Amino acid sequence: MQKKQIISKKAISNGVDLIDLTIVRAHQGLIKKEFSALELTKAFLKKIEKFDSKIFAYLTLTPELAKKQAKKVDKMIAEEKKISYLAGIPMAVKDNILVEDVKCTAGSKILEDYIAPYSATVVEKLKEQEAVILGKTNLDEFAMGSSCEYSAFGPTKNPHNLEKVAGGSSGGSVAAVAGKMAIYSLGSDTCGSIRFPAGLCGVVGLKPSYGAVSRYGLIAMASSLDQIGPITKTVEDAEIVFNVIKGKDPLDSTSVTLPKIRNPQSAIRNLKIGIPKEYFIEGIDKEVKKLVEAGIKKLETLGAKIQEISLPHTKYALSTYYLIMPSEVSANLARYDGIRYGLSTSSEEKKKEKQIILELEDVCRTSRGKGFGNEVRRRIILGTYALSSGYYDAYYLRAQKVRTLIKKDFDLAFKKVDVILTPVSPTTAFDLGEKTKDPLSMYLSDIFMAAVNLAGLPAISIPCGKKGKMPVGLQIIAPHFQENRIFNLGKIFEQQYA
Ligand code: GLN
Repeated sequence: MQKKQIISKKAISNGVDLIDLTIVRAHQGLIKKEFSALELTKAFLKKIEKFDSKIFAYLTLTPELAKKQAKKVDKMIAEEKKISYLAGIPMAVKDNILVEDVKCTAGSKILEDYIAPYSATVVEKLKEQEAVILGKTNLDEFAMGSSCEYSAFGPTKNPHNLEKVAGGSSGGSVAAVAGKMAIYSLGSDTCGSIRFPAGLCGVVGLKPSYGAVSRYGLIAMASSLDQIGPITKTVEDAEIVFNVIKGKDPLDSTSVTLPKIRNPQSAIRNLKIGIPKEYFIEGIDKEVKKLVEAGIKKLETLGAKIQEISLPHTKYALSTYYLIMPSEVSANLARYDGIRYGLSTSSEEKKKEKQIILELEDVCRTSRGKGFGNEVRRRIILGTYALSSGYYDAYYLRAQKVRTLIKKDFDLAFKKVDVILTPVSPTTAFDLGEKTKDPLSMYLSDIFMAAVNLAGLPAISIPCGKKGKMPVGLQIIAPHFQENRIFNLGKIFEQQYA
């Protein structure tokens, strides 16, 4: 059974326990008038003020907006109006998701002073529920990275150990929740950017099925892979947020209305769980492997049927991702031309040039040169190369074919099993600076993440114990639009660790 959270009067007055609450528990406290939304919000702002100078989860704070919103919810409660689960609950938004009139940098110098002219659909949906937005969180530049160290504004640190990375790219969103500086947050996941840092920081991170959540207002990285999802303390909370943000949006033609699930299997008894042998490879930390295997064993003792499966094309997932993603990146980031968005260098050279075409080229070149960091440039160059005529068939087109094979592996596997379990990361959080000099070793961190995004499947990262002080995550993967299987099993799983 999950522990009941009891809030003492003293704890409320000094704000200690409020920051430990889940969405569900905070909502109950609000409607029972144990504390106000303003008290709750202030407890988080206080924690951020004290703690975030060490962690650097937030890039921008919106305390006045947050307090105003909290007061609005308090008024609704005072007037006995029915409030939703997310009303008055303090949360954080990754800084590549637009919130109207608030800065949105995507962790890049090129958008350092960019103010969002509108809100993303997911943010609109949260606003309709009267959510309290505390601020915008740090990320690897344009969500490219696995450690949050490629942010142009400095790295986010792991709340469990300040010498370690928080993971990326949604490092700020994850550290905000793990560091008790938000009850939940939103991240984006193109190849693990929600699940990977959630695993390293010991919180829950859901990547929804491709198409389940609108991408309108998400600064695009690789559009065929990007999805927005929640980062929470519990699976139940993740389900609540997912149910709010999901659904068809006329502004994103890839979004859909989720099909109704008939007779969902909610019992663990006889649930068929597949363990892909390709995910338990050499190179994975022995203790991490042990913890994940122990987690699987617990489910077996509860009555689940565990069977080994094979996803034979897994070995190509990372190389396929690192061709498709940069190709899409090179196209998506072409819009940062020094004219339409963000940083623009009106250089001295510009004045010297007489022909307008050279002036444009010059502004574009120098703005991009100044605005983009090394990792972003590396990917634009790789992607431009992969898409160039003469190489297109050999690289991009071939990668797309392999992507189909990876997806087919899952289709076949899901004929035999209901869900698939894997580790999230081969190791616990690594040291700050350990991989920044070696991009390839950074790319390798995504080894258990890539196939899920390439196949468009939903997957969650759930804590499954610790190696020393550092959390280890377990990944649950389900068939397309079967998030309900993830929530059902996830809730059963986390009870084993409560
Ligand atoms: N580690 C992945 C990358 O560097 C993360 C991408 C993502 O999910 N945004 O591409």
